[in-house]
Amino acid sequence: MGGRVQGVGYRAFVFNLAQQYRLSGVVQNLTGEVRIDAQGETGLLDAFAAALVSAAPPLSRPHVVSCQLIPLREAGDFEILPSAESLLAQIHVPPDNFLCEDCRREMLDPEDRRYRYPFINCTQCGPRYTLITRMPYDRPNTTMSDFALCPACLAEYSDPHNRRFHAQPLACPVCGPQLDFVAVHRQANENASRDAALASCVAAIRRGETAAVKGIGGYHLICDALNPAAIAQLRASKHRPHKPLAVMFPWQGEDGLQRVRDELQLDAVAQAALRDVSRPIVLIPRRADSTLPDSIAPGLNEIGTMLPYSPLHHLLLDSFAGPLVATSGNISGEPVLTDNAEAQARLGKIAQSFLHHNRTIARPADDSVLRVIDGKPRMLRAGRGIAPLEIDLPFALPQPLLAVGGQMKNSIALAWDKRAVLSPHIGDLDAPRSLEIFEQVIADLQQLYDVKAQAIVCDAHPGYAGSRWAAKQGLPLHRVLHHHAHASALAFEAGLEKTWLTFTWDGVGLGDDDTLWGGETLSGRPGAWRRVASFKPFRLPGGERAGREPWRSAAALCWECGLDWHSSVRDAVLLKSAWQHGLNAPVTSAVGRLFDAASSLLGLIDTASHEGQGPMLLEAAATDEAAQHDLAMTDLPLHKNDNGLLVADWTPLLHALRRDEVPVAKRAMQFHLSLANLIVKQAQRIHADTPFDAVGLTGGVFQNRLLAELALRQLAAAGFEAHLPQLAPCNDGGLAFGQLMEAAHRHG
Ligand SMILES: [Zn+2]
Ligand SMILES: [Zn+2]
Repeated sequence: MGGRVQGVGYRAFVFNLAQQYRLSGVVQNLTGEVRIDAQGETGLLDAFAAALVSAAPPLSRPHVVSCQLIPLREAGDFEILPSAESLLAQIHVPPDNFLCEDCRREMLDPEDRRYRYPFINCTQCGPRYTLITRMPYDRPNTTMSDFALCPACLAEYSDPHNRRFHAQPLACPVCGPQLDFVAVHRQANENASRDAALASCVAAIRRGETAAVKGIGGYHLICDALNPAAIAQLRASKHRPHKPLAVMFPWQGEDGLQRVRDELQLDAVAQAALRDVSRPIVLIPRRADSTLPDSIAPGLNEIGTMLPYSPLHHLLLDSFAGPLVATSGNISGEPVLTDNAEAQARLGKIAQSFLHHNRTIARPADDSVLRVIDGKPRMLRAGRGIAPLEIDLPFALPQPLLAVGGQMKNSIALAWDKRAVLSPHIGDLDAPRSLEIFEQVIADLQQLYDVKAQAIVCDAHPGYAGSRWAAKQGLPLHRVLHHHAHASALAFEAGLEKTWLTFTWDGVGLGDDDTLWGGETLSGRPGAWRRVASFKPFRLPGGERAGREPWRSAAALCWECGLDWHSSVRDAVLLKSAWQHGLNAPVTSAVGRLFDAASSLLGLIDTASHEGQGPMLLEAAATDEAAQHDLAMTDLPLHKNDNGLLVADWTPLLHALRRDEVPVAKRAMQFHLSLANLIVKQAQRIHADTPFDAVGLTGGVFQNRLLAELALRQLAAAGFEAHLPQLAPCNDGGLAFGQLMEAAHRHG
């Protein structure tokens, strides 16, 4: 058997299944695969073989590698043989798991020896990726090697009938990790350990303080989600005035979702996503009567929601009995902090107390983030519980490839033979700690999967930290255009055999004409993209600063059209002069900057405090349903330029946005409708000349649910098959995977 069959209780499952069907034989771990020899009655053997897949443990993903008849042996017991090396190693690194129901029941049972033990786990739950130091996945190769098993745990570990048979992170209050509470601004006598540590932490949160709590993939900064003063204090000290904060809800009611239901509008898809074993953050619309303060997600309609996933989180939320803000314990844009001393040193100005534990985190894994768009959960950030995301390829690579991703929202990917692996979200590569983790994850993934990259793929932008790192490695280097990577990632998951027309709309990425692309429509397939449509280019005053200052994009559009830009921003006059002379004013066609401009022109924002703030506010402001039926939607003219490129003119949009007499909600809705309409119009025009099988929508702009759903609906109505990424993020978090796909098809 192959697939995910190690570290998930599969051998014990086979052993017990064989006994149930009265078979004799053996089960053995080979590196990455499981060998099973079985003999018995034909009917029972057939049932056994079927159950090997259909009744497998929830965390396993087994598939049959090969099946053959073996000579009859002397009947005897069914045995588990010691692990052996296999020549054809297929290593699977399991992601971190939630707390299973069986363990949760034990944890809440006063008679159980693990009552209220925050590190309880079994073969079906508990951390994996963040504590594995090397493969094969055995206890000495994890950060649990520091903890010697007590006799009671050892007995469970050694008994194939026990549900903790070979559970590598196995622990109990006698022999396992423990909590440690440290109050940094108070007397030392408030420090506490074990259950008292948890109680002290809850008391601190009740007082309105921020606590840094060490979890599975790193620290969270935690405060009372119903206390506006506590949220304000956290925001002020973290210098995060507006970025939406995630909320963890206590597990209440039959399905654990009762408390979530009180605050948010839960549909079936969101419910399933929240309860998935990966326990991601899911963006969910709030109810009109929600008691959550607006300051959790200022100006937005959705709350990043998650359920407790580790036993520690369950205990914490049960004790607190209310929702808690749980945001990444990091410095802006960096990977989440994992080390006790480093967390205390770097978060000491934000958190008044720390709930540490002494189980070492081998590498960070931030929480995953999903958003339901067009009825399906879409990955916005792959992290804890999901990554390393292992993907089977429908083709074999001639040599192992490493892709280093983009500059922002970086993740990396590794591919060899017929497999690819996407790393968890790392962060923005402009900080030293991000680069450090970037290098560690690159080294770790190659070590864990026992693969050595023979070539590297990076973004075409030579200034990206990943591209600079790649150029120094002495390996063959393939540079892939930013938007080609986006398009190839989507083509992989939605149909490599198709001919695509893919809209790659995002912030800025370097194009092959040295301008900053971001509103490109590409025709073709991985390895053979042709740019067929774009937007009327404009000059961005201040270059990169425009990404954080939406007013610059608004000013640029006005100036391009010879209109005045009235701004309270002081240096606007100086800036216009520089812009007129083309100083630090690169040419771009980025739709992300059109969203920025619109958000500023509607008076929603001038300067953003986090990436994507303008577009998020614009989407949230577009609440005028009536506008959807309004025929006054703005039509954007298309014309072919000298190079045969179909160029969309945004000028009418600018005029519509400046009509101050029209309510903001209506103008915001019209902006989205106009762009969705443009997508269909472009697709129809291009299809007449250059037929294609399907339309793709990808790039960071399509994290916008309103735009994506309008476009998908209108494309379907016009008879087009249309796709939006689901597996890998449509934002730059999916770039590394797209780089792999693009490079593989150029050379394969
Ligand atoms: Zn469990
Ligand atoms: Zn023990």
